Amino acid sequence: MPEVDVFRGLPIVGGHPAVDFVNTILYSIGQDYLASYRGLVDWAAHQGIIDEAESAELMALDERSAKAEAALAAARSLREVLKALILAAIDKSPAPAETAESFRRFYADAMTNAALEWRGELVAYALKIGSNDPRIIVWRLTKLAADLLTMDHQGRLRACVRRPDCHWVFLDTSKGGGRRWCLPGVCGNIHRLKTFRQKHAAVPQ
Ligand SMILES: [Zn+2]
Repeated sequence: MPEVDVFRGLPIVGGHPAVDFVNTILYSIGQDYLASYRGLVDWAAHQGIIDEAESAELMALDERSAKAEAALAAARSLREVLKALILAAIDKSPAPAETAESFRRFYADAMTNAALEWRGELVAYALKIGSNDPRIIVWRLTKLAADLLTMDHQGRLRACVRRPDCHWVFLDTSKGGGRRWCLPGVCGNIHRLKTFRQKHAAVPQ
């Protein structure tokens, strides 16, 4: 299998930054990568959501400042909302109205801070979200999440086959589209071992 990108022990396997965002809890060891403001900035920089200069600026902000605390709280809240929306999309059923309403508020907030910017190299406009407020991470993730949720993913947005034992989701970007696990070397092996044991337990002694 292709080499997996890893951020401080966290495998990046979502196939889309908004999906990776909901996979920021490593359940096997109980580690939440959004436990602190600096953790959030560090993860966002690794994912390319903020550039080096923005990362340096946001890292310089006092972690206990109201701005930093607000950004972290918003990020953690968005992660919950997005997880519910992604799982609803996977299950092909609409999420509760209050979840959709929460996302609408995140989106409205993000768009308030967005502007059209001409990208000469692309010969197109891009929706640029820029500010020295640490909530740019949340605003940009909201925009990415809206793109993900409104795209026709053709059944490629999936939960790991080990759900609910595994909480991870992914966008299958493989050529054949037959991906089943978050990590074949972890969940795939556990699944195969379980199937093997079940098969052999069924054989009469
Ligand atoms: Zn899994």
